[in-house]
Amino acid sequence: MSKKQKFKGLRLILGDQLYPFHSWFDDGKDYVYVLMEIKPESEYVKHHIQKIVGIFAAMRNFAEDLKDKDFEVAYFKINDDGNEQSFEKNIQLLYEKYEVEEFEYQEPDEWRLDEVLADISGGTMVSSEHFFTDRDEVETFFKDNDSYLMERFYRHMRKKHDILMEDGEHIGDKWNYDKSNRNKLPKDHDVTDPKTYSHDVSDIYQEVQDAGLESIGNIEPEKFIWPLTRRESLAYLNFFVKNMLEHFGDYQDALSNEYWSVYHSRISFSMNTKMLNPREVIEKVEEAFYERDEIDIATTEGFIRQILGWREYMRGLYWAKMPDYKTLNHFNNKRKLPDFYWTGDTKMNCLSKAIGQSLDHAYAHHIQRLMITGNFALLAGINPDEVDEWYLGIYIDAFEWVELMNTRGMSQFADGGIVATKPYVSSASYINKMGDYCSNCEYSHTKKTGESACPFNSLYWNFIDQHYEKFKNNARMGMMLATWDKMDGDKKESLLSQATKYLDNIDTL
Ligand SMILES: Cc1cc2nc3c(=O)[nH]c(=O)nc-3n(C[C@H](O)[C@H](O)[C@H](O)COP(=O)(O)OP(=O)(O)OC[C@H]3O[C@@H](n4cnc5c(N)ncnc54)[C@H](O)[C@@H]3O)c2cc1C
Ligand code: SF4
Repeated sequence: MSKKQKFKGLRLILGDQLYPFHSWFDDGKDYVYVLMEIKPESEYVKHHIQKIVGIFAAMRNFAEDLKDKDFEVAYFKINDDGNEQSFEKNIQLLYEKYEVEEFEYQEPDEWRLDEVLADISGGTMVSSEHFFTDRDEVETFFKDNDSYLMERFYRHMRKKHDILMEDGEHIGDKWNYDKSNRNKLPKDHDVTDPKTYSHDVSDIYQEVQDAGLESIGNIEPEKFIWPLTRRESLAYLNFFVKNMLEHFGDYQDALSNEYWSVYHSRISFSMNTKMLNPREVIEKVEEAFYERDEIDIATTEGFIRQILGWREYMRGLYWAKMPDYKTLNHFNNKRKLPDFYWTGDTKMNCLSKAIGQSLDHAYAHHIQRLMITGNFALLAGINPDEVDEWYLGIYIDAFEWVELMNTRGMSQFADGGIVATKPYVSSASYINKMGDYCSNCEYSHTKKTGESACPFNSLYWNFIDQHYEKFKNNARMGMMLATWDKMDGDKKESLLSQATKYLDNIDTL
């Protein structure tokens, strides 16, 4: 009879910690690796069905890989009889089963989970070995400053990690090429089709239904498009670098009726579940820049800034500002999110397209999130709690540490200007400038008042008027305030009454 193996303890792997090169796995055969699908983790907001299915499927693949490498794995599927649907209770069960008293866990990226896991007896937290920065690094960096300017942090990161640097100097004639990256797609420009998979996830989908987990969004269970393993995540990344990166910079702000992800990488799900490491993503892009003439500095810098700059900065601010950040509501916005955010059923073509594809693919690119759905929500004075809940639920890459800072901070300015130096709002002219949404719309982007006037136009000026006092000390809002000041009184009146009419009938827009 073989002797029963004695284990040192448990090691908990969360659904967004699927990093196979964590040092745990260098020689960790005397630990039991634990993964759990539990209801509270799927129900704290209504998630997109593709997000729930995608995370469960990726977790199961990860567990199988560990087993293939002879690691001891304890896996709780969502409907397993022995699944107590709680981290604490399942850990207690495994303490008894394996006769151990301790567990290790990688630092969770979410405040709520940090508290939950810290309360379980026998736990020790270790680094997730994923980010460039430690949790408190951003806070320490900005310690003696009253503003959290991302650009300062980003330059520090470039120097510290020697990325796009040569002999201590930045490559190219400037640090930041943001202003170069702002074109709409030219007429008749064909965008390469994005890489997708066609996984059959029907079994997991059925299990999620049987478990009664509520969800939003659409799914084709026989044609699941997202990568579910590290190997597939790498294939997405490689496809992007080979076929899309060249045009990323030019068209990253472009809005399109035809192309749902334009030249974006769609690697956020893989990175946020840690199947991909940000270092390897940046290395691949930097390598392409050095090896291929068609990859210019503007594109390379623009892409790397998103990951080395924004992604790390958002995470650091999250840990610096939580838990209070989650309650900030600078404009005291109270309106309910219109029903069409859950259906895409609106006459406003830009919103219908951005919401429709979010329901279909659990994805929208940055400018759709910021300047379409986010812009409208802010102009309409929607309660940021509702806006947060929507963004946290609908996107496959949405995890609170990055969703909250982008939504409440960058998009809704509910933090009063910690993340963004001014609110990201616009009238229809920006949306029309960046793409072809307006040409398919029942509303007219040039009309400000009267029938069929684009709602963004009057809501924009209504927003300026309503918050005029709050903007007075913001130099970056000066031009908008001056334009409003100069506007003829009757014109102002009709814009404000148009906005009121639209807001009173928001669900019918
Ligand atoms: C209102 C709002 C909500 C958002 N919610 C999320 C979210 O829940 N999860 C999430 O990962 N991103 C979020 N973002 C940031 C950004 O929109 C997504 O990271 C991006 O659209 C993901 O698609 P992609 O992988 O094709 O990105 P690309 O455009 O190809 O960019 C490459 C990578 O850069 C990183 N990145 C780009 N912009 C940001 C940013 N502002 N903050 C942090 N990382 C960034 C992402 O990791 C992304 O994968 C949000 C943005 C807004 C305006
Ligand atoms: S006209 Fe207005 S509502 Fe219609 S697509 Fe353009 S910006 Fe959106």
